[in-house]
Amino acid sequence: SVNPTFTGMHIQHNTLRRVNSLASLRAFGSPRNFSSSAPRSKPRLVILGSGWGGYEVLRGINKKRWNITVISPTNYFNFTPLLASCAVGTLEFRAAVEPVRRYTPEVTAYQAWCDSIDFKRKILKCMPATALPPLRRVPNASHSMTNGAIVSERETDSRTFNLHYDKLIIAVGAYSQTFNVPGVKENAYFLKDIRDARAIRTRVLECFEEANQPIITDDERRKLLHFCIVGGGPTGVEFAAELHDLLHTEIRRHYPGLARFARISLFDVAPTILGSFDSGLQQYASKKFTREGIRILTSHHVERVEAGKLFVKEEGEVPFGLLVWSTGLAPNPLIQSITDVEKHPKTESLITDDNLRVIMKDTGAPDPDVFAIGDAAMIRDVPLPATAQVAYQKAKYMTKKFNVLGKDKEHVTPFQFHNAGSLAYLGDWIAVYDRTKVESGPKTKEAGRLAWLLWRSAYFTRTISIRNKILVPMYWFINWIFGRDLSRF
Ligand code: FAD
Repeated sequence: SVNPTFTGMHIQHNTLRRVNSLASLRAFGSPRNFSSSAPRSKPRLVILGSGWGGYEVLRGINKKRWNITVISPTNYFNFTPLLASCAVGTLEFRAAVEPVRRYTPEVTAYQAWCDSIDFKRKILKCMPATALPPLRRVPNASHSMTNGAIVSERETDSRTFNLHYDKLIIAVGAYSQTFNVPGVKENAYFLKDIRDARAIRTRVLECFEEANQPIITDDERRKLLHFCIVGGGPTGVEFAAELHDLLHTEIRRHYPGLARFARISLFDVAPTILGSFDSGLQQYASKKFTREGIRILTSHHVERVEAGKLFVKEEGEVPFGLLVWSTGLAPNPLIQSITDVEKHPKTESLITDDNLRVIMKDTGAPDPDVFAIGDAAMIRDVPLPATAQVAYQKAKYMTKKFNVLGKDKEHVTPFQFHNAGSLAYLGDWIAVYDRTKVESGPKTKEAGRLAWLLWRSAYFTRTISIRNKILVPMYWFINWIFGRDLSRF
């Protein structure tokens, strides 16, 4: 069992008197730290992850009814649909993130990884995602920052700590898929997080500054300014489009001698790009890209990556200055480590019932206290796409459930996904909008400027904070008037 040590910095209302009397004891030289069973007035809810699923639960949940702790290695939420724009400077990074700290101290947040879940004892093992002082044994260590109701203990001889939960929401998302192609992790950039967007932007500008040096040959310039993208899904396509916008505006203006060397190549093993979209929209996107000079290399297999070069089965060696890899999702290591819960045999996603409770392997029944949402989970026999739309709607469902849980009634209506359609930006203020797979309403599709307006208004509407509702259109406007910033930090 876990013994909390607590000095009363974060206290529950009903423990106030007790803490006051302990504070007066302390003044008389009693031991500085003490242990007690966790004082609890509210049930303990732990949310794993601060992405589309976790952050939306955090935002919407009634914080007065739950003693909430968020565990996430990032202390912010990434607005992923805007990452491609940030990667080329159409938007500034701040506009695509929301801080977890907005909800503290009402909520306790640790920037940490959850490494394992003990479903029987309801304990999470976590590891800080921050630097720590050198390891030393700390018997009876003081944990003045622990939430009074959440049991926490730093194990004295390790760098992990434990958390107890009454209810748990798993929303840890997924990792980038590499299909074990050798050299990808070492030599390619991914686009999953705002830090990835920052790294890509720095690298793009670095390629141009390097290529601009007078001692560089034209052949070297051609290699440096070859931008390769592997993965023709919406992320790869949108990044190619945003990069093309950058090359044909600010780069052409400020590096006039270099623009002719710059090329974008988009590789995919599939026969088409935007595979999840309507075939008419796929063709529209392919034709537009080809017309703009973006090479589309579908049915191409990347076999290996080395520093500055790809090895493609159909093309041989392909040199590049930047490689962005976006070929879908791989399971999160935490999800891989879970063995007690039913999982999808291929994707390893946690299987839930339609109330989003995980299904325990030994009983075949749902665990009433553990829920899984977002890219890390799927409802049994209901294949839904791994999108923000699904994660967001599941989070909304969870919020509703948790806001009535414990009241007389329980929210048991099954989760239902309402498909609002898919959007993808194609560059040059053109987008595609696919509503052909929606269940209700007109099954339409749209390509061109109107779809772009929908794309911008959809993401503007979804932007969460008032601050970002101001920042996003402001950066769109500033960059339209003055151009994107080409400074490299
Ligand atoms: P995420 O949003 O990935 O969040 C996972 C969270 O868990 C993160 O905070 C992470 O730090 C944390 N975490 C990871 N491991 C641990 C751990 N061990 N312990 C604790 N926390 C952990 N979808 C759309 O519908 N429309 C779009 O336009 C769209 N555009 C996209 C553009 C890009 C560039 C990308 C990458 C994705 C896009 N998606 C889009 C997909 C969408 O972002 C995902 O489906 C969505 O983020 C899934 O939400 P999630 O909460 O499951 O995971």
